[in-house]
Amino acid sequence: MPAMERDDSFGLLRWLADAGADEAILDAPVDRLNAAVSRPDSKAVRPSPAKPAQSCAPAAALAAAAVSLSTAPGAARALAASCTNLAELKAAVLAFEGCELKRSATNTVFADGAPEGRIMLIGEAPGAEEDRRGLPFVGRAGQLLDRMLAAIGLDRSRAYITNVLMWRPPQNREPSPEEAATCLPFLTRHIELANPEILILLGAVSAKHVLGQTEGIMRLRGKWSVYQCAGRAIPVMPTLHPAYLLRQPSAKRLAWRDLLAVREKMDGLGLT
Ligand code: URA
Repeated sequence: MPAMERDDSFGLLRWLADAGADEAILDAPVDRLNAAVSRPDSKAVRPSPAKPAQSCAPAAALAAAAVSLSTAPGAARALAASCTNLAELKAAVLAFEGCELKRSATNTVFADGAPEGRIMLIGEAPGAEEDRRGLPFVGRAGQLLDRMLAAIGLDRSRAYITNVLMWRPPQNREPSPEEAATCLPFLTRHIELANPEILILLGAVSAKHVLGQTEGIMRLRGKWSVYQCAGRAIPVMPTLHPAYLLRQPSAKRLAWRDLLAVREKMDGLGLT
């Protein structure tokens, strides 16, 4: 390639990366200026996300592929309700095609860790690294989260981690109300089936959707509230999101206080 063309190509790539287009969606380039000729059927060429075994999918999960976006929250509710354990719920989410975000995501991010630990953490949505690996909180914020958990004697073998959204929003933008409404029935069922003793909500988006609160996270954090779930009242601690703590290290002392309150609650409940 001639040097000038190469410099132009690098310049264009840099410009795209600065604008937030930091990932390849398709394997082959698409000339979108000549759409009539070359635009492919995006569904036909999109690389399929890595899908674990789905042998436990309930029949409804397999039917989910046909759901239309406008009826998605209702379909998600019915589908989630039909799942009787976490493996079925995961299979149902993997088969679900009713959330627009799935079209641009590489992987569905369901959960990580151990539900038996009875401590469940809920973040906002997968970021770039989580999308690549199909696991929640495995990027920089996740590394900080692991250190935060370690500080109160927890790790992923004793805590269970998920997000409000199962697919990465482009450029990590906040989820739209429609996207959240579609994912929420799965999250609600996820909490019911995991049946934790303590819920920890990481950041404003999680607190807003799980608690249905419009108050900011700075007001909500550090105060116990209750999540009513299948006849149980689960104690909930909203706290600051680790990504926020990476940007505002001085706020770590607040998160530390919240974590100490969680540790105290764990001790009171006899959780190790
Ligand atoms: N931020 C989140 O809220 N969740 C993740 O999984 C990663 C970053």
